[in-house]
Amino acid sequence: SDDTVIAEPLMTEPAVDRRVGVLLPLPLGGTPGGIYDYRCPAHLQLQPGDFVEVPLGKRSLIGVVWQEGNGDIAANRVKDVIARLDVPPMPEVTRRFVDWVSSYCMAAPGAVLRMAMSVADAFQPPRSLTTWRCSEAAMSSAEKLSPQRQRVLAALRERPPMQSTELAKEAAVSVSVIRQMAERGLIESVAMPLPLPFGEPDQARQGPLLSPEQQYAADRLCEAVRADSYSATLLDGVTGSGKTEVYFEAIAACLAQGKQALVLLPEIALGAQWLRRFEARFGALPAQWHSELTGLERRLTWRAVLYGKAKVVVGARSALFLPYPDLGLIIVDEEHEAAFKQEDGVIYQARDMAVVRAHLGQIPVALASATPSLESLTNVESGKYRALHLPDRHGGAQLPSMHLVDLRRDKPPRSSWLSPTLLAALEQTLAAGEQALLFLNRRGYAPLTLCRDCGHRLQCPHCTAWLVEHRFHQRLQCHHCGFSTQMPSSCANCGSTGGFAACGPGVERLAEEAAMRFPETRRLVLTSDTVTGPAKAAELVRAIQDREIDLIIGTQIIAKGHHFPDLTLVGVVDADLGLNGGDLRAAERTFQLLHQVAGRAGRGSKPGQVYLQTYDPDRPVMQALASGDREGFLAAEADDRAMVGMPPFGRLAAVIVAGSQEAAVDDLCRDLARSMPQMEGVSILGPAPAPLAVLRGRHRRRFLVKCRRDVAPQAVLRRWLDGKGRKGDPAIQIDIDPYSFM
Ligand code: ADP
Ligand code: ZN
Ligand code: ZN
Repeated sequence: SDDTVIAEPLMTEPAVDRRVGVLLPLPLGGTPGGIYDYRCPAHLQLQPGDFVEVPLGKRSLIGVVWQEGNGDIAANRVKDVIARLDVPPMPEVTRRFVDWVSSYCMAAPGAVLRMAMSVADAFQPPRSLTTWRCSEAAMSSAEKLSPQRQRVLAALRERPPMQSTELAKEAAVSVSVIRQMAERGLIESVAMPLPLPFGEPDQARQGPLLSPEQQYAADRLCEAVRADSYSATLLDGVTGSGKTEVYFEAIAACLAQGKQALVLLPEIALGAQWLRRFEARFGALPAQWHSELTGLERRLTWRAVLYGKAKVVVGARSALFLPYPDLGLIIVDEEHEAAFKQEDGVIYQARDMAVVRAHLGQIPVALASATPSLESLTNVESGKYRALHLPDRHGGAQLPSMHLVDLRRDKPPRSSWLSPTLLAALEQTLAAGEQALLFLNRRGYAPLTLCRDCGHRLQCPHCTAWLVEHRFHQRLQCHHCGFSTQMPSSCANCGSTGGFAACGPGVERLAEEAAMRFPETRRLVLTSDTVTGPAKAAELVRAIQDREIDLIIGTQIIAKGHHFPDLTLVGVVDADLGLNGGDLRAAERTFQLLHQVAGRAGRGSKPGQVYLQTYDPDRPVMQALASGDREGFLAAEADDRAMVGMPPFGRLAAVIVAGSQEAAVDDLCRDLARSMPQMEGVSILGPAPAPLAVLRGRHRRRFLVKCRRDVAPQAVLRRWLDGKGRKGDPAIQIDIDPYSFM
């Protein structure tokens, strides 16, 4: 072909000045589109997707070849690509996904790319481990050695090489003995590849015998996997119906096709039980992706995904952006969870983006939940998703019976949070030797602390929020910005040293009451303060399963996913908690949360009881929880939303203006208010103070852009905000499909 003509050996300069557009992982974009032009040196054959090192100012950066260059920059100013990295290219579907998310969420492509790279030094070949084995010299001179040294050699004999610490432990010597022996040439080092933090799942292993309903659902999902095309399925099954077992079959089918599978979980820190089940089913741990990984684990895992060696990845939302060369299935478990919405940096809804990713890759996606979101149910109704139902708990376990406790009549005694009815049920359960859970979705001792003399409320200096007393740590904390301080010795307002009064209950206060009333019970407080990481979570979950605990007192961290067969009583201390504040989503969210919590009760052979303490038992959401009429409740919710054109019957975007100077924020808001576009099917509300009017010292105002279903809010926003400052102070932040409707 013509190409061969160009490759003339006599040419000193390349005949064609080939340029490539390289996307750099810079959150603020820089150039429009975040793409920078570079010259491709003659010796490099660059393809889209190649990872390259390029100069930028005084430093060099790693980016991805995104497109051909556009030649806009003068030849004397364009710089050369430094090198192509020796790793497989970023898959084409990942690049299309980055572009899609960037455009939909109106985020800089470089910011989205950063999530897909997210490991600064992933490109260095991983280091190796230093291990030790006996040297030839040691073999011949073993007799003359000290007992310590002899123990080291004995430990190494007929064993694979060992790391220093392991060897020291095995031989009961200090590490310095090993160092000295190495210096003397008695042992020699062997470089071993780092062990991967996951194994190779065995797709041939058999799962449990499935019930006919489970088998039907599993068969449909496996068909979807084998169909090699896009499909979206809602796996709608009551708590304990075996949704996990069912989608494990789909994962097995995906592995049998030689493809990768991804499982998104809302809260990976509590996935310990999930991991153990996975290991039991597939004989190996899956690769994990979440914020708790060490730098080395991230690096190894990212590379293993890119090379196709990580066959199953379980992760939090950001796992969606990993560069899978051959993804064949995505599962989103507990799809209704708010935790799938990322609220800072690139703001996106991972459940929705999972569906987009599946579509781009022409693969199936399955969303699992016992309380699906109204969005997903609406998609089932319109035929966009197929639904599979699991109406019964596995093994004939009954759903728990639900009781509403009317706190207006059934009053807790003074300074107590437990009604006589709930107390009696607790006594009975504990006396029968069964486990109970008290649920209160509020961390700390009390939500509000005030001066005993003047009533001054302790407030965060950086946010519109009260400081919450944490008695275990003896600190005051802001739950919004993380500010923390000691309990003051006197009131900042009146100077009184008369102390502070706690108002209302938090889990710590509830735990205090439980300790007083049931001093003999073994109690455990489960909140994000006590569950500090995956290891701790695993330990606590095990303690509950092994019956070392009688009474659990916890926040939403305990609500999901767990299977505790001996837990028979759930008491929801304040069922109304999430309902105040005027968010149209509040009832749906409360239904989901309380239904999930209730689902912890009676999962084994003994039936479960759930008590919901409320001041408003007549509210539709309370009635629906008590009667189990999910469909009726959701139909009414859907009607309410449809009437006011709120999602999923209309589209919504929030525009947040935030800055350190209140006056500048208001100026920008006035400017935006003046330039609002008038468009058919669009209404823009605001500016109003954002739900947290001051957060981390930044003043926040919010506009809501409400669009008819057939109008894209992005088009409105582009027209409205083009050229207006997205960065700096004040800055404009865009939240497409905000989780909260206020
Ligand atoms: P869900 O995810 O729907 O809440 P799980 O998959 O956690 O339900 O199942 C609940 C419990 O029942 C788990 O302990 C699970 O191992 C068990 N289970 C479900 N289906 C089966 C089955 N077919 N055979 C044996 N155990 C099962
Ligand atoms: Zn005071
Ligand atoms: Zn704060």
